Amino acid sequence: MEIGAIFLILAVLMLVAIFVIYPFMQKPGKILTEDHRISSLLAENDRILNSLQELDFDNTLGKIPEEDYPLMRKELLNKGVEILKQLDELKQSTDNSEVEKMLEDAIAARKNTSESQSMPSVDDEDEELEELIARRRLSRDSKSAGFCSKCGNAILVSDAFCPRCGNPTKI
Ligand SMILES: [Zn+2]
Repeated sequence: MEIGAIFLILAVLMLVAIFVIYPFMQKPGKILTEDHRISSLLAENDRILNSLQELDFDNTLGKIPEEDYPLMRKELLNKGVEILKQLDELKQSTDNSEVEKMLEDAIAARKNTSESQSMPSVDDEDEELEELIARRRLSRDSKSAGFCSKCGNAILVSDAFCPRCGNPTKI
């Protein structure tokens, strides 16, 4: 057999080996249970709410440039809505119609204010979205137990150990 052919076969074998092994190497970090995904989305939602509060606080202190404030605020609110949408997708099986309706209403309200250009009350629409996000925060399952103190992974009340790094969650 020619040496070139042997190298070719070796190369193909290596590619196949990588192809087979790769998914296994990826698995531990990648597989999150649905609960964990929901938990981290809720946590992310909390972070956004905190950022909103901070932004408002900084704004009252005059630390934020006036022209930046509305943009920054809007960006955070949009992120919040995005997370709520993801949550709704995840939780579609459970009875979430009420939250879904609230979300639809908020989106409809946004559309209306942008269509009817008479006095576009930006504050009202923002407040509505904010309330939506905040209300969602209250209706959260009590399953979330915050984050692992070691690796920052989202953990659940039912987790005695961090699912990612094994750090005990209860001290
Ligand atoms: Zn951890």
